[in-house]
Amino acid sequence: MSRTYLNYIGGEWQGARSGVTNPDVNPARKDEVVAVFPSAGRDDAAQAAEAAARAFPGWARTPMPKRGEILLRAAALLEQRLDEVAEALTREEGKTLAESKGEVARGVSLFRYYAGEALQPTGEIYPSASPTTVLYAERVPLGTVALITPWNFPMAIPAWKIAPALAFGNTVVFKPAELTPLTAWHLADVLEKAGLPPGVLNLVVGKGSQVGQALVESPHVKAISFTGSNAVGTKLATQCVERGIKFQLEMGGKNPVIVLQDADLDKAVELTIAGAMLSAGQKCTATSRVIVERSVMGAFRDRLAARASALKVGDGMKPDTYMGPLVSADAEKTVLEYIEVGRKEGARVLAGGGKLTGGDYDRGFYVAPTVFDGVRPDMRIAQEEIFGPVVGLIEAQGFDEAVALANQSRFGLSASVVTRDLGLAMRFIREIEAGIVHVNSQTAGAEPQVPFGGFKHSSSGSREQGKAARDFFTQIKTVYLDPP
Ligand code: ADP
Repeated sequence: MSRTYLNYIGGEWQGARSGVTNPDVNPARKDEVVAVFPSAGRDDAAQAAEAAARAFPGWARTPMPKRGEILLRAAALLEQRLDEVAEALTREEGKTLAESKGEVARGVSLFRYYAGEALQPTGEIYPSASPTTVLYAERVPLGTVALITPWNFPMAIPAWKIAPALAFGNTVVFKPAELTPLTAWHLADVLEKAGLPPGVLNLVVGKGSQVGQALVESPHVKAISFTGSNAVGTKLATQCVERGIKFQLEMGGKNPVIVLQDADLDKAVELTIAGAMLSAGQKCTATSRVIVERSVMGAFRDRLAARASALKVGDGMKPDTYMGPLVSADAEKTVLEYIEVGRKEGARVLAGGGKLTGGDYDRGFYVAPTVFDGVRPDMRIAQEEIFGPVVGLIEAQGFDEAVALANQSRFGLSASVVTRDLGLAMRFIREIEAGIVHVNSQTAGAEPQVPFGGFKHSSSGSREQGKAARDFFTQIKTVYLDPP
C-alpha cells in the first residue's frame, strides 16, 4: 500500500477540499504507485495564498539572520535524509539514483548558500545633497510569492526558488509539478521541522490549470517565479503584466555544442553524451544540437553513435543504469513523435530511433538514446525543444558557420564549444547568444552561487540563483531620513 500524503497550508497538513487524490507513479514501473497525493483545486490554492499573506508581516519582521538559521537547519535535515529523498526522486521522476543524490546534495547547497545570503548587506547608503539627510536604499521583501515548478528537477528548482524567497522575507505558495510531489513534500517537511512558522511556506499539489491559475489570479500573490514550458510561461507572463505583478520565467532550450576540428574527440563525445542523455535528455540545459566541423564529422559521428548505442538504459534504481526512463506516457509520446518528425524531414537515425521494448522495458517509458545525422538547421528537430534523449548532428564548414548555426534558434539558454584553441574559445564566448556558456564542458550543470538563465525565448530576462535571486525576490525602498 502506498502512503497518502497531504498538502501543507497555514501550518496544517490537509487533503484537497474536494477529497480528490492522484497517484504518483513510477515511470520505470508504471504499475507501481509511489505515493498518493491530494489533487488540490482553486479553493485550496486560494486558501494557501491567504495563509501566506497572513504570515507575511511576521516573517518580514523576523530578523534576516534568524531566517538564515532556519534555512541552515533545513539544509542539515535534508542532508540527513539525502538517501531517502534521492530514492523518492528516482522512483517518481525516473533519473538515476546517482543523479538524484547529486540533485538532493545541490538542494542542500542551495539552502546553505541562501542562509549565508541572509547575512549579506541589504542596501546601500548614498551621499545626500542635504547635510542633515541620511539617504539610503534598502531591499525589502515583495510579500507572498507563488513558485510554480516542473518535474525534471523536483528538488533543485524548488530549492533555488524557495530558499531565496524565504531568506529575503517573502512568504511562499509552492506549487510543484503533479508528477513529482513526493520530493516537494520532503522539502516542505524539512522546512517545517527546521522551525519555519505556520503559513510562511505552503505546499499545494494539484493541476497547473487549477492551482497555478488560481495563484496567478490571487490578489495576495505579488510575484510569480515559474519554470516550465514556453506555452504556459508566456500565458502566465501576460496575466502578470495585466495584474502589474513581478514575474520570472525559465523555459526552453535548444542547446548546442560546437565541436571544432582541433577538439579532443573523445572528450567531445563524452560531454555530448552526458549533456544529451543524462536525465534522459529532460533538462532545459540538455544538449540537443551538435554542430561539428566538416573535417572531423566522420570520426566524431562514428564514435558518438557507438557510444549512444552502448549506453545502459534501465530503472534508475539499478546501480549500472546510465539513463532512466522518460517521466510519463505523455513525455514518451511526444519524444517518439519527434523522432518520426526527424525521419520524415530526412534526417538519418544513427543510433536508437524508437521505444525500447521487451522485459522490464515494457513496464516503463523507455526511449532509446537517439542520434540523428544530416540534420539541417531549418528542420523542426533542430528548432523545437524535444525534451528527450535525442540529439542531432549538424555539419559546419568552419568556426564562423558553426556559431551562426548555433545562434539560429529562438532559444538561448546554454551553449558549449570543444576546442584547444583559446582564441576561438574567446570568440565563441563573445559571439554566442546564450545565458550560460561552457568551454570544454557539457551544456548542463549549474552551481548555486552564479546567475542562471537564458537569452531570447529561454527566459524572461531576469536570472535565478546567486546574487541575481535577490534582485527578483526583493524590491527597493529609498529612504530620506532627516532629524526632527
Ligand atoms: P512541463 O510539464 O513541460 O515541465 P508545464 O509548463 O506544463 O511544463 O508545467 C510547469 C509547471 O507549470 C507545472 O507545475 C504545471 O502544473 C504548471 N502549469 C501548467 N499549466 C499551468 C497554467 N495554465 N497555469 C499555471 N501553471 C500551470
